[in-house]
Amino acid sequence: MKHIRKTVWVSLALLLCAASSAMAAGERYEFTFFEGTQYPLSVVFLHGEQDGPTIMVQGGIQGDEPSGYITAQILSNSRVRAGNLIVVPRANVPSINLRTRQINVDMNRRFDRDYNLFYEDRLARVVRFLLAQSDGLIHLHEGSGFYHPTYVDSLRNPMRYGQSIIIDAMVYGRMDLGRTVDNALAELNPRISPASYRFQLFNTRTFDDSTNYSEMRKSLTCYALTALNIPALAVEVSKDITQLDWKVQRQLEATEVLLRHYGVDVVPPAIAYDKDKIKVKKS
Ligand SMILES: [Zn+2]
Repeated sequence: MKHIRKTVWVSLALLLCAASSAMAAGERYEFTFFEGTQYPLSVVFLHGEQDGPTIMVQGGIQGDEPSGYITAQILSNSRVRAGNLIVVPRANVPSINLRTRQINVDMNRRFDRDYNLFYEDRLARVVRFLLAQSDGLIHLHEGSGFYHPTYVDSLRNPMRYGQSIIIDAMVYGRMDLGRTVDNALAELNPRISPASYRFQLFNTRTFDDSTNYSEMRKSLTCYALTALNIPALAVEVSKDITQLDWKVQRQLEATEVLLRHYGVDVVPPAIAYDKDKIKVKKS
């Protein structure tokens, strides 16, 4: 049984690779892993009109962070002018259905080794497989409060994650992640009002012995850096900002700017807001 499963898996993977590399310029291709189970994993491949790197953007790894999966869903309908996108809009569907961070385990703490205990581990394997075909990762999250490098108050301090772009180190190998974020912030923040909602650079110093964020060693961004040697960043909006449409728009802009930095030029669909309904118009 185990052998059969493995054979099916390998043929699936080969089929998928063949399909994504044979795609024509401007084409969109969608595939669902584990279809018919309670944990389907849909992935959208967007082949750009011009050649360039392939960047993966993922949302919904923790189901209580709606901005991430809405932003990724909108992004998956973009026009891609250069480079390629691999978009996983909803990495953890069961947790999204229950609007909870985790079902069995926090899926974003399952990347330090190849676990095989829960459905989350099966999903993590597919995520690693997709990431291995990518030249970079942008991970979309929604965190509590507002990150600030020093303690301001209970909602704005170093243990809060909201409104930040997170990196594991300023520089990793030849990747200057700090400069990438600084450049992105210089472009994004002047447009953000009120100023207290602007994004901060959040360096978790994941590899330092003295870090307060050692659990980040189990995260997907850390895996991207250490196992695949590709740049990875997380864009966090704040759970304490109540306007979901505002957060999605800012997260989409941040993603667009970071993608452009990595050589992927996207034109997301225009969004028209209708009270609490978000309508997406294909570009
Ligand atoms: Zn998160």
